[in-house]
Amino acid sequence: MKCHECNSNMKESKELYHYIESGLDNVWLGDVSVYRCECGEYFASIPAIIELNLVIALYLIKKKTFLKGREIKYLRKNAGLNAKAFAEYIGIDKSTLSRWENNKQIIDKSNDRMIRLFYATFKGVSPDKMKSFFDDVMKEIDNNGEETRINIPITDILSEQQAECRVC
Ligand SMILES: [Zn+2]
Repeated sequence: MKCHECNSNMKESKELYHYIESGLDNVWLGDVSVYRCECGEYFASIPAIIELNLVIALYLIKKKTFLKGREIKYLRKNAGLNAKAFAEYIGIDKSTLSRWENNKQIIDKSNDRMIRLFYATFKGVSPDKMKSFFDDVMKEIDNNGEETRINIPITDILSEQQAECRVC
């Protein structure tokens, strides 16, 4: 592959890739083909983005700590909703949503759950999986745990494109 900045040949390698394009700061993808140029330009070849983004969203609704601003925004965008529509679904003011998304206000426990539940319902998670979602995830959420890194091997996403999701 040629660099679009300097036209040199780029070198490909498999990397653990910090996926900042997601809008989140703690997502790392394993085994991503990254093309790097000596001039500093790079290009990460990320396949199956729709599946990948769904897997990330499902990690978020299962995390043990309250949703952070970027994570709320991520779930909203992954549901394909603008701020106005999302706020109406959750039943809050658009200004409140904006304060959550911009980390000006920490979300409260019931709204945190509401967003997760909304997202799971919106994405059509099946009833039996919803039960385990409540049993295993919902009751353990609090705001005192540590934030963890999300590590996703890209090979897992590719092998599961046709299969049932491992996460949900
Ligand atoms: Zn270059």
